[in-house]
Amino acid sequence: AKAAGRNNYQFFVPEMNTRAFERLMLENALRRGIERNELILHYQPQIDAASGRISGCEALVRWEHPDLGLVPPAQFIPVAEDSGLIVPLGEWVLREACRQQVRWRDSAVGNIQLAVNISALQFRRNDFVDTVARALEDTGADARCIELEITESALMQPDDHLIGRLDALCALGLTLALDDFGTGYSSLSYLKRLPISRLKIDRSFVKDLPSDAEDAAVTSATLSLAQALGLDVVAEGVETPAQRDYLVTRGCNALQGFLYSRPLAAEALEVWVGEFET
Ligand code: C2E
Ligand code: CA
Ligand code: CA
Ligand code: CA
Repeated sequence: AKAAGRNNYQFFVPEMNTRAFERLMLENALRRGIERNELILHYQPQIDAASGRISGCEALVRWEHPDLGLVPPAQFIPVAEDSGLIVPLGEWVLREACRQQVRWRDSAVGNIQLAVNISALQFRRNDFVDTVARALEDTGADARCIELEITESALMQPDDHLIGRLDALCALGLTLALDDFGTGYSSLSYLKRLPISRLKIDRSFVKDLPSDAEDAAVTSATLSLAQALGLDVVAEGVETPAQRDYLVTRGCNALQGFLYSRPLAAEALEVWVGEFET
């Protein structure tokens, strides 16, 4: 096998190098992009099912590359995670969301809740709680209006140490949501130990509602479970009135998706709110 490996060496190494090189280029460009303030946040409204009004927004990062244009997160978040750049990037996202909460507080948009995605790598750092506390303090954001979205996979098999960290975040006044719920393979028994306020049903379960029997079963079960545990539920990827009706009938508290709006730049979101609320 060794000999064969050596024979193959010259054939597959150059390609590996090209890939690694491209990745390094992207990583360097992203590092420069962060320094040069090329990141921006878009905001996707979340609609409160009971009132039919906007209750908050999810902040979603984009990269405004000078040559490539608007780069979606799927193309650079994985690189950011592999390189560790997600840590400064994520901190920028959190601070920018806090600044936006302050800007909107006294505007027509009002005191809405902003949800911020937190990568597992950020959350697992020992200085994470301090980083969040400083962001709140420096920006003057209202902690009650900041929600951290932590993925189910980041919280799999949480030990007392990680639960303590979640408790410390709650003590700052902000709330926690479990993102991409249902996509991990975590045991449900751990849920009641987590100090979370909301479950976020992943788009993959909403996509084929209400006709897909399995997705309908998973969604209904999630909503019942949440109700039993006293948790709110927000569904993402809601594109049709039929999906909305299915979810709301079964107790879903908030809805997010193209049915209402795509993620929008801050100014466009302000216009959207003005039109939606009248
Ligand atoms: P996510 O957290 O699951 O975010 C929801 C994604 O679904 C967003 O994609 C949003 O634009 C999209 N979406 C929302 N409603 C609909 C709909 O009705 N139909 C369809 N087809 N799509 C919908 P986006 O903005 O491209 O973000 C992709 C992922 O990138 C996010 O998935 C999240 O995992 C990651 N991401 C985005 N911003 C950040 C960030 O600031 N930090 C970290 N760590 N990850 C981020
Ligand atoms: Ca999310
Ligand atoms: Ca998701
Ligand atoms: Ca299916």
